[in-house]
Amino acid sequence: MNIVVCVKQVPGTSEVKINKETNTIIRDEAEAIINPFDEYAIEEGVRVKENVGGSVTVISMGIPKTAELLRETIAVGVDEAVLLTDKAFAGADTLATSYTLSMGIKKLGDYDLIICGKQATDGDTAQVGPSLAEKLGVPHTTNVRKIEEIKEGYIRCQRMTDDGYEVVEMPLPAVITVVKEINEPRYPSIKGKLKAKKYEVKILNAEDIGADISLCGLNGSPTRVIKTFTPVHEIKAEMIEGTACEQAEKLADKLLSMQFVKCK
Ligand SMILES: Cc1cc2nc3c(=O)[nH]c(=O)nc-3n(C[C@H](O)[C@H](O)[C@H](O)COP(=O)(O)OP(=O)(O)OC[C@H]3O[C@@H](n4cnc5c(N)ncnc54)[C@H](O)[C@@H]3O)c2cc1C
Repeated sequence: MNIVVCVKQVPGTSEVKINKETNTIIRDEAEAIINPFDEYAIEEGVRVKENVGGSVTVISMGIPKTAELLRETIAVGVDEAVLLTDKAFAGADTLATSYTLSMGIKKLGDYDLIICGKQATDGDTAQVGPSLAEKLGVPHTTNVRKIEEIKEGYIRCQRMTDDGYEVVEMPLPAVITVVKEINEPRYPSIKGKLKAKKYEVKILNAEDIGADISLCGLNGSPTRVIKTFTPVHEIKAEMIEGTACEQAEKLADKLLSMQFVKCK
């Protein structure tokens, strides 16, 4: 079974710097980590491989530095790591990201299962998994908390909902996005670390994957960040004194004067 895991590099800190002119994250300067949800996606990919055989390839669209993080995944059982990097990919919104990833995945050859994290901790849209499935023309299930059964051409999984879970069956190839409840990621072994050290991440640019650059990066992004700002936190607390009845009356007066409550 050919398993592909989508991995995004995200800032490892909330001290994110924004380029004021382009309104984009300055990714070169931020301390980078693998998106935490993607660690669970990697672990699940490796577990599926261990159960049914096959190989796991991680793929990322990102800046050249991302290769360092991808190399580390070899230490936990990933077989191949591929980085899609090109100036033409910069400034991508979720649509352009999904397009680029879909072209990269097609370039890899046959695939059975694509695993994404539920969402990225920076962009936070949770759109890339479903959008990628659309681009590839395959079914998808989001928020997967357990793979119940997987075999050639078929997967049955549990999809987490607000009040429990649903059981979803799909034909393969398909995309799933996973939640943290799905597993406990393993630590790298010494042997794995040594293997990772020697591993060379495969680097592909727009031309290599046959991408139409009008659909990549800022060019291919119908959405634009118009403005970014840090919200100002103003906490004004006022204690209302008196008996419970007096407090309720005073509170009601205040709310009425603020026109939060309309009385007939
Ligand atoms: C309106 C809008 C405009 C934007 N403009 C810009 C911009 O100008 N510049 C900019 O830098 N960013 C921009 N972004 C952010 C950019 O779209 C996202 O970083 C990117 O598309 C991924 O979306 P996300 O972070 O919400 O991922 P999610 O959809 O939350 O991620 C879900 C999963 O998809 C996979 N995934 C996501 N991104 C990647 C990736 N790059 N490689 C591999 N796997 C991935 C991972 O498995 C991840 O767990 C913009 C976002 C929006 C909504």
